[in-house]
Amino acid sequence: MNKQEIIEILSDNTKNDWLFNKADKVRRANVGDEIHLRALIEFSNICKRQCQYCGLRSPNKEVERYRLSKAEILSSVQSAVNLGYKTIVLQSGEDDNYYSDKMCDIIKEIKNYDVALTLSTGEKSFDEYKAYKEAGADRFLLRIETTDKKLYEQMHPHASFENRIRCLQDLKTLGYEVGTGCLVGLPNQTIESLADDILFFKEIDADMIGIGPFIPHPQTPLKDTAQGDFWLALKVMALTRINLPNINIPATTAMETILPNGRIIALQSGANVVMPNVSIIDCRPKYEIYPNKAGINDDIKLYREQLEEKLHSIGRTISKEKGFRKGK
Ligand code: SAH
Repeated sequence: MNKQEIIEILSDNTKNDWLFNKADKVRRANVGDEIHLRALIEFSNICKRQCQYCGLRSPNKEVERYRLSKAEILSSVQSAVNLGYKTIVLQSGEDDNYYSDKMCDIIKEIKNYDVALTLSTGEKSFDEYKAYKEAGADRFLLRIETTDKKLYEQMHPHASFENRIRCLQDLKTLGYEVGTGCLVGLPNQTIESLADDILFFKEIDADMIGIGPFIPHPQTPLKDTAQGDFWLALKVMALTRINLPNINIPATTAMETILPNGRIIALQSGANVVMPNVSIIDCRPKYEIYPNKAGINDDIKLYREQLEEKLHSIGRTISKEKGFRKGK
């Protein structure tokens, strides 16, 4: 699709059912009915950045900060592996304490299990990304958040749009499967810029795209900004599926947080991945990027069983594979 076509669909709500159905068909034809589960471990909420929307931003003094040890991380990995997870995702704020050597050591330990490993630890140097890759990391998630450079720089004080792009290019060069994505509903974000976001995903040939509605956090400068619209976020996701047919697309936690059953609706509108939270239960409320995050109290075993049942009820099954991008 070209930009004009995308804008037209995003601006017109009369054909939403057609769009979601079409994305569902494209999903089935290209990546099938299997759902890939990724076990998410939020291993540190310490962050040096000041992203205007995020509850973990460094000026937020009300959040109790934590940083898991290698042993604690590995214990969550073990529990996830025992339940059959084939991908581990390590996510954190931008916490410089996990300098390259320490991180590489954790990566190597995790790769002793038969799992794929995804990192989501923010902006690093080429050399750091290289060290993680050589240690065994397979994938990296780094959302561009928005491709509107002006808006990007308003939302990320002291950060540069160019560096974000540089990171994504470095990750590609190093042979990672690269995940990116955007927030929907940032203040002053336009439909045109959302169309540009989708074209950007295509241009960099992203392997995974995560899209979530913006959810205001009370301890951030955006606390009084309206929440992003579920249906607009879903439309951006569906259009992403249609334009990048064989990639992996999660039904994001933010979607489930703002609409009950949001995750299942997303899985029926183009998504094929779920990322259950397997972090130690005490830490979960502290990893508060936005409030009322779905899944914060779920027991990991029970959650998986209930999810499997729900997936079966919509004709889907849980994959036993690592779930790399198909046909690449
Ligand atoms: N430090 C890592 C991980 C950030 S948290 C990084 O920079 O990539 C993962 C994602 O949560 C972010 O990329 C952002 O898109 C999303 N997020 C943060 N705050 C949010 C909010 N208030 N509402 C919705 N999503 C949010």
